[in-house]
Amino acid sequence: MQVKHILREKSPEIVSIAAEATLSEAARLLWRKRIGALIVRDGQGALLGIVSERDLVRAVAEESVTALARPVSAYMTRDVATCGENDTVDELMEMMTQGRFRHVPVLSADDRLIGIVSIGDVVKSRIEETVREATTLRQYISAAG
Ligand code: AMP
Repeated sequence: MQVKHILREKSPEIVSIAAEATLSEAARLLWRKRIGALIVRDGQGALLGIVSERDLVRAVAEESVTALARPVSAYMTRDVATCGENDTVDELMEMMTQGRFRHVPVLSADDRLIGIVSIGDVVKSRIEETVREATTLRQYISAAG
């Protein structure tokens, strides 16, 4: 199973925010879209960073409510780990486990942002794969018997 198989099953929308937007705006967008992380892009659409709900928790823990008026750029992660659509889901899981993050942007061969995969997408695809394997095995056993 590859990253492209996960992308095919989900909405193509990549929810992004500007680095100058406030953390309060980021929280509203996360809540409205029911997601856990936002891609931060520059004016040309290039990937500048990622800001997740965990960064918002850190901001509030460090600066209390005044953090909500701070720009996304103050708390986003700039060194973003990415993957390609031909990477395997196993490689992606390894990357998330090692890096301790739950979101990975997907880049095309020419470095365009083409999607984002969350740990929830990975778990969903793993469960579907397991169910498919079990069905195949059951069919095999009943055909053999
Ligand atoms: P998450 O588990 O995705 O909510 O993110 C946990 C922390 O890792 C936050 O500080 C995020 O900004 C950061 N983070 C999330 N995704 C990535 C990624 N793909 N590469 C690097 N850092 C990330």
